[in-house]
Amino acid sequence: MAELELGMGKMKLLTDNGQKLEQLDMKGLAAVDPAFGNATVQLAGAIHAPNDGSGNSELFTRKLTELLISKGVEFKLGVTAKSFVADGDRITGLQTDQGLLTADNYVLAMGVWSPKLSRTVGQDLPVYPAKGFSMTFDLKDKSKAPELGGVDEKTLVAWSPMGDQLRMSSTAQFSGFDASHKPEDFAAIRSTAKELWPDAADWDGGSMTAGLRPMTPDGPPIIGKGKKHKNLFYNTGHGHMGWTMASGSSAAIVDIIAGRTPEIAMDPFVVRTYRK
Ligand SMILES: Cc1cc2nc3c(=O)[nH]c(=O)nc-3n(C[C@H](O)[C@H](O)[C@H](O)COP(=O)(O)OP(=O)(O)OC[C@H]3O[C@@H](n4cnc5c(N)ncnc54)[C@H](O)[C@@H]3O)c2cc1C
Repeated sequence: MAELELGMGKMKLLTDNGQKLEQLDMKGLAAVDPAFGNATVQLAGAIHAPNDGSGNSELFTRKLTELLISKGVEFKLGVTAKSFVADGDRITGLQTDQGLLTADNYVLAMGVWSPKLSRTVGQDLPVYPAKGFSMTFDLKDKSKAPELGGVDEKTLVAWSPMGDQLRMSSTAQFSGFDASHKPEDFAAIRSTAKELWPDAADWDGGSMTAGLRPMTPDGPPIIGKGKKHKNLFYNTGHGHMGWTMASGSSAAIVDIIAGRTPEIAMDPFVVRTYRK
């Protein structure tokens, strides 16, 4: 109940800014997403965002890559960036393990590894790794699985339907750059799934993985031009919402590089260091 009340308290900020949200009781939730009618736990209710959506980030990325290649974009995979080369207020090259790459403009978008590269030209970035765990289950009965993406605010387990599979994730752990995992790390995911949709999948199976979210201490990502170099741009620190924000962030950084004003105010995303 406390989690629902907390969520409802935050609703106004979102609805005032154009997001549609509805509060549902247990019966209303089962009407919107019938799988919740089989839950073995009593839920206080839910907050439903009718115009929200979810998708498969890997499929999106692969299809986008194909489209860009068909338009002449070249991808250099398996190349490790080592350091920027600067001359005064301009970046003149990127030193890699396969030689020097040069360009008119450079965009640093390296997730949790971004500060390592920015420091080679004296720019500190407040981006830190927060480890998270993710599982993917094959559904054995799709009619008993959720149709909508969501998050259980009590266990902090999130889920996203992906066709015949369900992807679930949980937890933020601060353990540096170690992305290893052990079976116990996935206990909250399995127990939440068992309680919410008992017969939808074999919840003792599923594939397990862990990843590092690039978090900033104050929350917003870092999108824009740094103060030191005229042709070095940053698009990093998107935390737990990097795919959600990817298209919008890219549109904004393209506008900035092209000298146009982005559609949204960019002040919260300005390039900053932890110590002001
Ligand atoms: C468990 C979990 C669940 C998540 N769920 C969601 C979700 O539901 N929705 C959502 O929107 N986001 C989610 N995220 C967050 C999302 O994954 C990240 O925000 C996003 O991946 C950040 O994108 P990025 O491109 O900035 O960094 P990354 O995806 O980390 O990409 C950085 C890239 O830089 C490369 N790299 C590193 N060093 C070098 C080097 N020296 N030279 C060349 N390349 C280098 C890496 O190999 C990597 O490919 C989740 C994250 C986790 C861990």
